Amino acid sequence: MRTGRGANEGTTQLTRDGDDPATRDRAVFDSLEPDSRDEVGVPSMLERLIETGLRRDDLRLQEVFRALEDADERAIDFDSFSTVIGPCRGLIERALAGRLTIPDFPSFKTEVTALYERSLARRDGELASYIPQLARVNPERFGVAICTADGQMFSIGDADIEFSLQSCAKPIIYSLALEEHGAEHVHRYIGREPSGRGFNELSLDSDGKPHNPMINSGAIMACALLQRGQELADRFEFVLDSIRRIAGGRKVGFSNSVYLSERRSADRNFALGYLMREHKAFPEGTQLIEILEFYLQCCSVEATAEVMAVVAATLANAGVCPTSGLRQFKPATVQNCLSLMSSCGMYDFSGEFAFTVGLPAKSGVSGAIIGVVPNVLGFCCWSPRLDEHGNSVRGLDFCRRLVQAYNFHAFDNLTGMSEKKDPRLTRAQNFADDAGQVTWAASFGDLKGIRQLVARGVDLERGNFDSRTALHLAAAEGHLEVVEYLLNLGVDPQPVDRFGNTPLDDATREGHEPVIELLTHGSKRGERAW
Ligand code: GLN
Repeated sequence: MRTGRGANEGTTQLTRDGDDPATRDRAVFDSLEPDSRDEVGVPSMLERLIETGLRRDDLRLQEVFRALEDADERAIDFDSFSTVIGPCRGLIERALAGRLTIPDFPSFKTEVTALYERSLARRDGELASYIPQLARVNPERFGVAICTADGQMFSIGDADIEFSLQSCAKPIIYSLALEEHGAEHVHRYIGREPSGRGFNELSLDSDGKPHNPMINSGAIMACALLQRGQELADRFEFVLDSIRRIAGGRKVGFSNSVYLSERRSADRNFALGYLMREHKAFPEGTQLIEILEFYLQCCSVEATAEVMAVVAATLANAGVCPTSGLRQFKPATVQNCLSLMSSCGMYDFSGEFAFTVGLPAKSGVSGAIIGVVPNVLGFCCWSPRLDEHGNSVRGLDFCRRLVQAYNFHAFDNLTGMSEKKDPRLTRAQNFADDAGQVTWAASFGDLKGIRQLVARGVDLERGNFDSRTALHLAAAEGHLEVVEYLLNLGVDPQPVDRFGNTPLDDATREGHEPVIELLTHGSKRGERAW
């Protein structure tokens, strides 16, 4: 067993896969650049952690942050470091080793900020006006928050201002109903087809059931299924507590004025309730008025974009809240919820959204949109001006930009669009992968592999770290077929590497006559013999 170096021993040991935890601890400690006394400054360690996107309010890290902040010494040695990271060892090591979901978080933040600023320029759309509380909101508000499946968080703009969840509560209510009763039971009462109608339209499916749980009738029905037999107060408290837990213990509130206004202008929701009762759609013993009040209370729950980003991230993370590490939903619940968010989450725009954005999402009339990139992140945008479908104009604009910039559309993995960035890769991976693959394939003479990379749109002229291109490698190894193929494609025949050599220099040095011949006759563009 190799152990890490002792204090002041000089150089970091090379780590290898399978190293024991002490060696890994040591390597992580060394990455924090200990000083000559083999100590690391506490402020710089905190800064490094925060840079990775982990937050001070992350429940998993409470003890670590407290211990670091309480540390009498402003610097800690290796032994204290090992003790402090204690139970969070895995998370902290992954963070400091750049192995969280989005390894290059600072660049991601910069890029998302640019997307946000472009969406901010949108000023079209109208505020919801059916209740004064929504009509009075400052229309200029715009907040975006993102939380990765590892709990890295970023938010910008008005991400800390509370809004009423409105329809964004629907996927949560549905998921809670699924947890309590299972999908079979829940879908005895609620369908799972897009309705093709407005979210509050007076219509039921051919079985007399609400079409799906993402429209008003379906959410009212899901409320009827939740915690039956409990007092209304307890049922509502259950929903509030659940949302808090799903959001990693963050603050979730309730707007009584929104609720009172909703209650006063709830004719349509009451009509939906009576329509369902007429069709005997509710389970036996349902107190209709109470359930409608319960539904309207759920619409009036208040949270910020940051809180809702964590909720969305819990869905992205198959039901485990990333910032508490605690399971909130079974994976099957999340799968069902995301499926219906994908097909029914964006009102009458759901089909178009699935086509262009390709993410499970849910929109609310207060101007919020929660979106999920499975296994990667959850996000929430909030800006109150709505388009003709009732979706936030800026929120929708941001969703579109997000999937244009990153390979997040559900089917991007099919098309392999190389111009889209994969933020799951480190900066080095992003840059090196293509260049590395193409140069390795060229050095093996793997023409088929190179053709595949070309089909993916990989830049054949991009060199590796030493500016050695595919042509250099193919020429140096004497792979005539590859050299010919590259030249035929029109790559620069005389790129110069970091050592000042061209492919012809390489072929000459290695004595590959046919390659020299080919490169010599075709070395000037426009005079190709091939
Ligand atoms: N409270 C609203 C209603 O039930 C919520 C609807 C929404 O966000 N689309 O009408």
